[in-house]
Amino acid sequence: MKITIFGTGYVGLVTGACLADVGHEVLCMDVDPGKIEKLRNGIIPIYEPGLESIVTHNVSAGRLLFTTDTAEAVNHAEVQFIAVGTPPDEDGSADLQYVTAVARSIGEHMTGYKVVIDKSTVPVGTGDKVRGAVRSELDKRGMELEFDVVSNPEFLKEGAAVADFMKPDRIVVGTESKRAEDVLREIYYPFNRNHDRMIFMDLRSAELTKYAANAMLATKISFMNEIANLAERLGADIEHVRRGIGSDPRIGYHFIYPGCGYGGSCFPKDVTALTRTARDCDYEAKLLTAVEHVNMAQKHVLFDKVSHYFRGELEGKTIALWGLAFKPNTDDMREASSRRLMESLWKVGAKVQAFDPEAMEETQRIYDNEPGLQLCGTKEQALKGADALVICTEWKEFRSPDFASIAQTLSHPAIFDGRNLYAPEMVERHGLVYYAIGRGKNQ
Ligand code: NAD
Repeated sequence: MKITIFGTGYVGLVTGACLADVGHEVLCMDVDPGKIEKLRNGIIPIYEPGLESIVTHNVSAGRLLFTTDTAEAVNHAEVQFIAVGTPPDEDGSADLQYVTAVARSIGEHMTGYKVVIDKSTVPVGTGDKVRGAVRSELDKRGMELEFDVVSNPEFLKEGAAVADFMKPDRIVVGTESKRAEDVLREIYYPFNRNHDRMIFMDLRSAELTKYAANAMLATKISFMNEIANLAERLGADIEHVRRGIGSDPRIGYHFIYPGCGYGGSCFPKDVTALTRTARDCDYEAKLLTAVEHVNMAQKHVLFDKVSHYFRGELEGKTIALWGLAFKPNTDDMREASSRRLMESLWKVGAKVQAFDPEAMEETQRIYDNEPGLQLCGTKEQALKGADALVICTEWKEFRSPDFASIAQTLSHPAIFDGRNLYAPEMVERHGLVYYAIGRGKNQ
């Protein structure tokens, strides 16, 4: 099938590459000429495991093309995916300007039936806005053309996006049109062979499903962080508690890790946007508000521990930081906990020597002229001349470090671990003081 995708970010590019990989003829359109230029030259603007080879392979097979030309994109296919950003607006609600801009472009250029599929995460009711935007452009042209609007939210995880897209847990489709339903079945047929993963529903329910999924995951994290903070004060160890509750199949082991707060481009903005949606329909989402507040406070926990250890005297100190990305296997720094920590440290006159396997370039871009930041080529270099070590991201290569050498290199032998990577006795055996999240004594 011929398919057009608007937006070549984490979602659009992965969607385009994976759909091309099963044989569809995909044209990806982006308004960012720099991005399209890079992609045409085989340079992948983001880090996502497995993405580069799948893009390169399908570009050379001629099934994956890139353009900045809107008319060309609209004319390429009956199927038009919208995968552009929906960042938070000033009041926390989702900013729909990019989604509606694409909808208007489709209305402006279409000459026949289109299925407009919204893959971006958008508030309930956006489908109607997209329909209205397409229709008003058609009206301006005095044309009456048929089209359907479908919600097909994306559930891929950054860091495992290609694998998630290729083997999805579910493919949610919100539509009231049988014609559109058939088109969606055909698009996803190659991904749906082992068992039926497609879940059809009305458009508004599909839009809400995406927010509900992210809000539930964020709730699990904030819940565990709340219990971790309690454990710390009660002399209990959250890691024992985690295993103790995870063994109940009604709870399960997945996604109940305590830490230094959730970040990324989705959970923070989606929880806020859903809270805002609730307010708009006169409902106070008390639980969601609490999830958000707990998370904001959790992002301060590491700084508070470091500050407490140095008795508030952080001016002139150098903190080694392992992990900048909001989670492992990505270079995404949006809402990363490391950012809150670094900014707090700089405010009190401390310096940061940081290392991340993938997010250094992005960090450099964000904090270009920050005198308090030194990016280091290896995790060992980050330790040199540092007073203490903080860990913000659970990259695999941080899991089994040389504790003896860390103890020798740091001028204060302390590790502040925002991801509970180590067994405390293993760290302490080397004369290091270990501060983690919710781990009873010492905290
Ligand atoms: P992103 O910021 O990485 O990419 C968005 C892209 O859209 C950018 O390249 C931008 O230049 C482009 N764009 C903006 N306006 C455009 C237009 N009019 N025409 C064509 N391109 C345009 O965003 P992302 O992380 O891929 O997220 C996209 C959407 O998917 C968001 O709604 C997000 O909430 C949702 N989502 C993201 C993830 C994730 O893990 N990143 C997962 C599921 C859903």
